[in-house]
Amino acid sequence: MDAKERMKIPRHKMPEQKPEERRKNFNEVPFGYPEDIAMEEAQRCLQCKKPSCMKGCPVEVNIPAFIKLVAEGHHWEAIKKIKETNSLPAVCGRVCPQESQCESMCIVGKKGEPVAVGRLERFAADFERKAGKAAKPDLAPPSGKKVAVVGSGPAGLTVAGDLARMGHKVIIFEALHKAGGVLVYGIPEFRLPKEIVQAEVDSLVDLGIELQLNEVIGKADTLDELLQNGFDAIFVGTGAGAPIFMNIPGENLIGVYSANEYLTRSNLMKAYLFPQYDTPIIKSNVVAVIGGGNVAMDSARTALRLGAKEVNIIYRRSKDEMPARAEEVHHAEEEGIIFNLLTNPIRYIGDEKGKVIAVECQKMELGEPDQSGRRRPVPIVGSEYIKEVDTVIVAIGNGPNPLIPNTTPDLQLNRKGNIVASLDTCKTSKRGVFAGGDIVRGAATVILAMGDGKVAARSIDAYLKDPAWWDRPAPEPQPEKKKE
Ligand SMILES: Cc1cc2nc3c(=O)[nH]c(=O)nc-3n(C[C@H](O)[C@H](O)[C@H](O)COP(=O)(O)OP(=O)(O)OC[C@H]3O[C@@H](n4cnc5c(N)ncnc54)[C@H](O)[C@@H]3O)c2cc1C
Ligand code: SF4
Repeated sequence: MDAKERMKIPRHKMPEQKPEERRKNFNEVPFGYPEDIAMEEAQRCLQCKKPSCMKGCPVEVNIPAFIKLVAEGHHWEAIKKIKETNSLPAVCGRVCPQESQCESMCIVGKKGEPVAVGRLERFAADFERKAGKAAKPDLAPPSGKKVAVVGSGPAGLTVAGDLARMGHKVIIFEALHKAGGVLVYGIPEFRLPKEIVQAEVDSLVDLGIELQLNEVIGKADTLDELLQNGFDAIFVGTGAGAPIFMNIPGENLIGVYSANEYLTRSNLMKAYLFPQYDTPIIKSNVVAVIGGGNVAMDSARTALRLGAKEVNIIYRRSKDEMPARAEEVHHAEEEGIIFNLLTNPIRYIGDEKGKVIAVECQKMELGEPDQSGRRRPVPIVGSEYIKEVDTVIVAIGNGPNPLIPNTTPDLQLNRKGNIVASLDTCKTSKRGVFAGGDIVRGAATVILAMGDGKVAARSIDAYLKDPAWWDRPAPEPQPEKKKE
């Protein structure tokens, strides 16, 4: 097939559950490509000599090579190819913002719709899981060096996988009772099933990585104690798990949740299976979710599935400025979530028992762009109104987990409390300690956290081979990012 014929093949949609069905269940929304469709979609790739798509992939997947293997029906080889650089392909194929990463740079996208790189990655990863065995990468001989990875989110899992491949002994310490970080406690089942994360964690454990769950570093051992007790290096990937509130009246009323608490209760502690699981969650009728990012969409769609009759997103800018993935906004709209745009809450109102019964909102208009490049929301005086609600979920952002910074005085932090680390090396101000993912960047994305994991693994390997490496380039200051 020549390039012209390939360009004529339309991008394939992924079959998915109908909105009226899926709004009542927690099953995954898209079903994934069947084999024939995946192979046809893979034919759309032009096999560019200088593949621009790869420039948009922080974990350096050899995109044309794996797509060619799918097109030829060599799916096992395709997943092996992906796993040469990506330890979490089933995760990336589902939640990675491909539209603004690899796919945004695909050459086919210049004239039409880009090749569905993410959906093909998901297909290859699902093929492996359905085959019931894992494609195991080659491991270097044991180096005799030992590395502690703190946190088992995408950053920690990636650094651990790469270091294990390089022959180093890795122990991951995770505060929660399940590995995966936001992938398990934040992102809901209908977007990323827990068994899929677990399968990817299992295949990392298969490489010899040790996983110590329920281990809170900073409470159990400090970083200094880990370094004194035989670890040659440490990677800190503790994420941004601390909720941020707006500091408006009524935020401590019963029924006002942080998105973190709400989603953790539902996801990780299976509150939606109450009373089989002893983790109650509020029974809602009318819900207000504050924010416009992925976390807000996940909270709103979770509330709907938990039985709420009406779920409102309240977002202070317009739809164009929403940080959530376009696909997730679309899914939420299809499911009947109501979008109150250019609207901001100014206080929550409670009853005599301290339970939230309403939210007072104010309408906004867009002014000049602010430092984030997005137009600043400006309140419209006199536009205040009251909306009756019985549950509020605040999803306006997350801050860094403070425990490790608090117990490691010589770790340099920025003014928001994030660890300062060079984005080129993940090196921190403390010798032998590297950091990446949300604890450094602030709330970002899975693929950026994984990209940091890869960078850190290379740096740690260089440091373990030659400790003088540490003294060469100085850590650069971490640029601060503005986020909703
Ligand atoms: C609801 C929600 C939806 C999202 N949706 C998307 C999406 O669709 N696409 C996307 O790309 N990104 C999404 N994100 C963002 C993405 O999940 C994060 O950017 C990413 O998970 C960051 O990875 P991380 O490894 O840095 O940290 P995390 O995933 O936060 O993992 C950190 C881990 O460290 C553990 N930990 C913390 N402190 C300690 C300690 N002291 N000792 C031991 N362990 C500790 C935590 O328990 C946690 O397991 C979403 C985030 C949320 C909250
Ligand atoms: S840029 Fe697009 S067409 Fe070219 S190799 Fe990458 S996925 Fe294929």
